[in-house]
Amino acid sequence: MIELNLGELAVAVIGVAMVLVVYFEWVSRWTHANARRRAARKRMVCRLCLAVFSNPGNGKTADCPVCGARTDCRGPSALG
Ligand SMILES: [Zn+2]
Repeated sequence: MIELNLGELAVAVIGVAMVLVVYFEWVSRWTHANARRRAARKRMVCRLCLAVFSNPGNGKTADCPVCGARTDCRGPSALG
């Protein structure tokens, strides 16, 4: 059996708490980064009116909900 005095127990509890805080911070950042990446993958910018909208399907093209122009996932280019 491990014998601990009060000082060692306090250091162990604080150490475990610090490790848990760092671990949950890392999990939170990883989850938010994944959500942001997923949202950016579906975000599209209309080539005519520059409206930003989310692609409802999985295709590479979608119709702009504002002006109805066919838009691909690359967004607006120099030549429109
Ligand atoms: Zn548009």
